[in-house]
Amino acid sequence: MKVGVPKEIKNNESRVGMTPAGVLELTKKGHTVFVQTTAGEGSGFKDEDYEMAGAAILPSMEEVYAAGEMIVKVKEPIPEEYPLIREDQVVFTYFHFASDQKLTKAMIESKSVCIAYETVQNASGMLPLLTPMSEVAGRMAIQQGARYLEKPVKGKGILLGGVPGVAPGKVLVLGAGTVGIQAAKMAAGLGAHVTILDVNMDRLRYVNDIMPSHVVTEFSNEYNIRRHIKTHDLIVGGVLIAGAKAPKLITRDMLKEMQAGTVLVDVAVDQGGCIETTRPTTHQDPIYIIEDVVHYCVANMPGAVPHTSTVALTNVTLPYVLKLVDMGWEKACEKDVALRKGLNIIKGKIVYLPIAEAFGWEE
Ligand code: NAD
Repeated sequence: MKVGVPKEIKNNESRVGMTPAGVLELTKKGHTVFVQTTAGEGSGFKDEDYEMAGAAILPSMEEVYAAGEMIVKVKEPIPEEYPLIREDQVVFTYFHFASDQKLTKAMIESKSVCIAYETVQNASGMLPLLTPMSEVAGRMAIQQGARYLEKPVKGKGILLGGVPGVAPGKVLVLGAGTVGIQAAKMAAGLGAHVTILDVNMDRLRYVNDIMPSHVVTEFSNEYNIRRHIKTHDLIVGGVLIAGAKAPKLITRDMLKEMQAGTVLVDVAVDQGGCIETTRPTTHQDPIYIIEDVVHYCVANMPGAVPHTSTVALTNVTLPYVLKLVDMGWEKACEKDVALRKGLNIIKGKIVYLPIAEAFGWEE
């Protein structure tokens, strides 16, 4: 099969849909991969790296879209790309259709086959193509939080790990899912005292089993949250209620209870945030301060570390790409139930019900 890998053109997006390692896996099986020139640059991969792996480099996105029977990318197509997507072409990427009616209509009109990373779902209900980005964001939450605890950026002036003779900082993690566990692990690794809250006892049991003793689990309720926000230096929001807006676990009035210079990193910002005063920020302007509390609410945290994020993402997408190119999309989706859940639009028809419901289009 002929596979096209265009350069991402969405603002501030430096990830790429396939690494040279992925290209090699495809070309050694006899498939052809067309990569747009400089597509991998933002993630640290040169055109020569792709060529060495057997890819053909093309100068423009128009040529890549024209050459590929299947397009593998990262972000949803943006309007400049809509007219390049054609009937029967398979597009494998993050789409997030339910929040973008214009994109949905364009892909219906294109009569392409749209397989969305975010809805690929395995038998245990996990979303394997979303997990790596939560892992990146969870780990980054501590890295960024530690930075904003520094005094020159209005933090408390605390070194998370402490030093001999000085107590370490205290980190409160809301949610013991993918983001929460990675954040707790990073904070614990730095030597901070960590408290992690969840409403799911199985998650808390798991954390209790795997983490060192300076990571303490507690049930998530308003009483415990109000108690802990007074004493913790860095608070990470990593809660998710699937398909719904995040619950507001920290309300505006609670900010007054916190010490000046406390840092809030609300990773759940992309679902509305779990802190009432959260509003999305960018890597260019990541923080704002309310009631002397520093808020870091970047909606696309993995975008700041495109090399790590690209490799983490393509590690999990490649096995599906290989199935799609080896068997063709119909057979691959018939055989792989998880991949089948990724089918969102097939040749003009929405096949993933929540998208139609989001726009009130259900018949
Ligand atoms: P997850 O489903 O693995 O974990 C969410 C956890 O929240 C679950 O364990 C759940 O039991 C817990 N939870 C639900 N209600 C709670 C409550 N009231 N109190 C405490 N815990 C509660 O989800 P995840 O993959 O860890 O993602 C968390 C959030 O991070 C999501 O909103 C996701 O979209 C977001 N995210 C943001 C970025 C970014 O760049 N900002 C990147 C990746 C993920």
